[in-house]
Amino acid sequence: MKVTLQNLTKIFPSRDKKAGSEVVAVNDFTFEIPDGKLIGLLGPSGCGKSTTLYMISGLQKPTSGRIFFGEDDVTELSTEHRGIGLVFQNYALYPHMTVKQNILFPLQNLKGKDKMTKEEMLERAIEAAKLVQIDELMDRKPSELSGGQQQRVAIARALVKMPRVLLLDEPLSNLDARLRLQTREEIRRIQKETGITTVFVTHDQEEAMSISDMIVVMKLGVVQQIGKPQEVYDDPKNLFVAKFLGTPPINVFNGQVKGGKLYIGQDAVLDVGDVADQEVAVGIRPEGFELAEDGAFACKLNNVEVMGRDVSIVSTNEASVNPVVRAIINADNKIDLTRAEVRFNLKPHKVFIFNKETEERIGFEVK
Ligand code: ADP
Ligand code: MG
Repeated sequence: MKVTLQNLTKIFPSRDKKAGSEVVAVNDFTFEIPDGKLIGLLGPSGCGKSTTLYMISGLQKPTSGRIFFGEDDVTELSTEHRGIGLVFQNYALYPHMTVKQNILFPLQNLKGKDKMTKEEMLERAIEAAKLVQIDELMDRKPSELSGGQQQRVAIARALVKMPRVLLLDEPLSNLDARLRLQTREEIRRIQKETGITTVFVTHDQEEAMSISDMIVVMKLGVVQQIGKPQEVYDDPKNLFVAKFLGTPPINVFNGQVKGGKLYIGQDAVLDVGDVADQEVAVGIRPEGFELAEDGAFACKLNNVEVMGRDVSIVSTNEASVNPVVRAIINADNKIDLTRAEVRFNLKPHKVFIFNKETEERIGFEVK
């Protein structure tokens, strides 16, 4: 099911009546979510992710704009008539019911032509439970399950009505690191197996990047960029997006373009073709550095952190916006820790420059 968001806007009145100013939680969001894809809705806390999801679900009514499921305008349709499955961070299972009863619950409320027999319901519930691999736990109560298992029950309950659209709001946030990793792969598998169009909300860029067909990066209610995770990472539109994606995060410097060369401090680090002379913000991905004796870019060496396959060279530079500069290089490189200085050459496609005021990306020809 294709889902179309058309100029979707949500304005909340101020919570503090005296302070007055209203909150534009979502501002003019337009996007066609392709059928059968998993979309990661990504951004820092408060950027409007949940509000967007709640508008798609019908739990919240847009201030303006429209929502379509396929060709159907569902903007005025109530939640229970939209055919959606919803999963929240805190599982929200019925504590006094067994797993089976929890999963059956949405089916028991079906009315009219959708009404099912007991046998049909049970069959469906078992099918959903198998999909999330909890069919062995059907007679347990939620309190007898781990967090990961409880979240699987919540997912099964969302899937049992065979929703047209699956909506997940930070579903992994309450799980520990290992379970989070495992469960996100499960969600991806289930989504692929069922082919249900899915919107997955998270503030965790790595989580979104790893399982999404496409990501939408939001900031203060405004969509910043939409694209395939790798494309957005490799080609960020502005400094915010560049900073939000990637671990360790991108290194940011105050720089200057002069005579077709990019300067960081006194070092001419890269040719940037016909970019006009100006002050810029420079972003360099941690994997954008190459160690070189006569490298163009010099930093003060602090220490080297072992990461296993790679090492992280931690250094400082006066033009750096962050306290330290991180360069990730292969662990086979030997680094002399007694040296005060470390020199790099930069990989041009890992270096981005941004307008100092607008923070919009400035393109340059890589030779
Ligand atoms: P996210 O899910 O990205 O953390 P939300 O969509 O929950 O962000 O919130 C977006 C903005 O809207 C925030 O500034 C939040 O405080 C505000 N907001 C959300 N819900 C309400 C509400 N019911 N009333 C007033 N303001 C709200
Ligand atoms: Mg939220």
